[in-house]
Amino acid sequence: MATPDQQQLAKIIEGLKAREVELARRVKAVQKDRRKAHDPSFPEQATERENDEVLDALDGVERSELAAVRAAIARAESGRFGTCDACEEEINPARMEADPSATLCIECAQAQERQAQARQ
Ligand SMILES: [Zn+2]
Repeated sequence: MATPDQQQLAKIIEGLKAREVELARRVKAVQKDRRKAHDPSFPEQATERENDEVLDALDGVERSELAAVRAAIARAESGRFGTCDACEEEINPARMEADPSATLCIECAQAQERQAQARQ
């Protein structure tokens, strides 16, 4: 039987899959918008370019989120979701919920952060 933690993780993964569908749909919609040929007679080219910049920024944010969501789903499928890459201990489900792309438990993440700071 699944432990409550596993059930919680399964719920997070379900949410990730729904998020992936939604993000993929939005990224596709933005691409479609971007592909629209610019009308050469469009009197306000600057406005159009501004719109493109907004779309590009949005696109970047959504693409990086989509990549993170897909990486988390891939980890779930290989059974690594919720397991620390460094110490192999279970990552607190609350941490996975807050950041599904987390690959380290809070202790290892903090230890790595301290090491990174020490190197500076
Ligand atoms: Zn760890």
